[in-house]
Amino acid sequence: MKLADTPITQHQFNDIPFYLKRDDQLHSHFSGNKARKFMALLEQPLEHIDILISYGSVQSNAMYSLSALAAIKGWAFEFYVDHIPQWLAESPKGNYRAALDMGADITAVSELGLHPREFIEQVRQPDQHCLVVPEGGRFQHAEAGIKQLATEILSWTRFENASQFTVALPSGTGTTALYLHKHLSPHGIEVITCPCVGGKAYLEQQFSELGETHFPTILELATKHHFGHLYRQDYLTWYELQQQTNIEFDLLYDPMMWQCLQSWYPENQHKTLIYLHQGGLLGNESMLPRYERKFGLSPE
Ligand SMILES: *Cc1c(COP(=O)(O)O)cnc(C)c1O
Repeated sequence: MKLADTPITQHQFNDIPFYLKRDDQLHSHFSGNKARKFMALLEQPLEHIDILISYGSVQSNAMYSLSALAAIKGWAFEFYVDHIPQWLAESPKGNYRAALDMGADITAVSELGLHPREFIEQVRQPDQHCLVVPEGGRFQHAEAGIKQLATEILSWTRFENASQFTVALPSGTGTTALYLHKHLSPHGIEVITCPCVGGKAYLEQQFSELGETHFPTILELATKHHFGHLYRQDYLTWYELQQQTNIEFDLLYDPMMWQCLQSWYPENQHKTLIYLHQGGLLGNESMLPRYERKFGLSPE
């Protein structure tokens, strides 16, 4: 199976013209940046493995992508979370529903007083037939798939009549932005990102823990922003993006990056912006009803 070469389309948001790398269209079950991060695991034979194990949030995009990877590989998949909210257990939605449909075995461990990572190490004790993936795919195996993405972007720019390209994407663990920067900056392509989880210092720490020393440019909002909280401004940004581009963006990460880009753009109008669509649309299935309950069907 060869998953690559997603299209690049052209759009405008408010006064910002941009190109959009459509990694949301990589594959219907294995898409976005998690697919790029786990591509090496898909492509390696790994014949000694029967069970894939990971942990993190019960609504994470990584959980769903890993469940799809395990299904393709014929592996069992165990995912450990802190806890599963009762409303979600009663009526599964989004990534949680889709991962269950793929056969994921999702276990809450908070009652044991352990972090899911500790539970895996101390209680589950994986053997040599298990493959353990760290939360959010923050591992060096992610580099190969992201390097392939960088190569696709680079070959596209070679046919474009512009001089200065900037690639923009929001960060969670920062793994995608870091490896894109590593493989694009030698070709004069700048990578800019924003820290959706924690602040700039936290993101830089995540970068250095992957063993790299050169980092992408980090943009920040003027006000503090908590991951997963509902902000009217995020809902509005997401809604207007959809109105103006006819493309659905992710509700958890993309609104923050676009708000950062609004302040970045006036000083950088001479650059050609390429925005990376990192997928995550299944997560909207649970985020959007929460926004609609809080702010109404339309944020305006
Ligand atoms: C996981 C994810 C991110 C963050 O990716 P990192 O490599 O952890 O920085 C951003 N956007 C979407 C849609 C994601 O699923």
